[in-house]
Amino acid sequence: MTVPTITLNDGHEIPQLGFGVFKVDPAETERIVSSALEAGYRHIDTAAIYGNEEGVGRAIAASGIAREELFITTKLWNSEQGTDAPRPAIETSLQKLGLDYVDLYLIHWPRPDRDLYVETFQQLEKFAAEGLTRSIGVSNFHQPQLEKLLAETGTVPAVNQIELHPAFAQTALREFQEPRGIHTEAWGPLGQGKYDLFGEKAVADAAKAHGATPAQVVIRWHLQKGIIVFPKSSTAERIAENFDVFGFELTSDEIAAIDSLDRGQRVGADPEADFF
Ligand code: NAD
Repeated sequence: MTVPTITLNDGHEIPQLGFGVFKVDPAETERIVSSALEAGYRHIDTAAIYGNEEGVGRAIAASGIAREELFITTKLWNSEQGTDAPRPAIETSLQKLGLDYVDLYLIHWPRPDRDLYVETFQQLEKFAAEGLTRSIGVSNFHQPQLEKLLAETGTVPAVNQIELHPAFAQTALREFQEPRGIHTEAWGPLGQGKYDLFGEKAVADAAKAHGATPAQVVIRWHLQKGIIVFPKSSTAERIAENFDVFGFELTSDEIAAIDSLDRGQRVGADPEADFF
């Protein structure tokens, strides 16, 4: 199964479907990421704060898959923003992952209350120039913070990784960032199981029509909207199910019906208000 790739604004290609490891138990991570790699995933999304970079690294090493076939993302934690802390942070992440470089390095949250994200991003620009990461981007940034980065740094972030699922479709932010070359990555793409997304009629009807599962329908909705997506699961069956999404296509009416579920409903933290 070939996963489509998206060309980022710096010319690097990212597989549009990946595997996320938020809340994957560090003790289980090697086994779970190994089953994702066996299922065919080549794009893994982790973060320093998840505490499981070592398990991701062990799974990569054990897989024997060539480095250039993999796309590995990790993220700088909030406490490491500023001028001096990011370098030891990326070096630690690389060491834990057992890699010479990551494909994508993100500022995990903007923390607008501290206002260190511009100088932090300038450090990330250096890491890209030095080859510690191929691409650089941000996560959980809203339009004012993106505007400030665009005005004050020399690099357009390759992606903004944001909470995005049918009840929280982020249309205005996508309309700002995508024409400027900032690709959208969805976190919580299945709503983190925190509302009955799979019971929504628009999702259930499409699943029935295509002989697919509701999770597969929601993943297709993301893919067909051009969003980069990496659902998480800890069970081998669902890991394989979430990857098996290239045998059908939603109609424009089915996409419109799922679009109509948007009600501005967050399931996670608000980047402007919930600081940690
Ligand atoms: P998700 O929307 O992917 O939901 C995962 C949950 O959905 C699972 O725990 C499981 O309960 C359920 N699920 C998965 N597959 C299913 C299936 N086939 N059938 C039924 N239920 C299924 O939520 P997520 O893990 O928070 O988001 C995906 C990834 O995004 C994370 O693993 C992480 O890599 C990233 N993320 C980033 C941030 C950020 O701040 N940048 C925040 C949260 C998550």
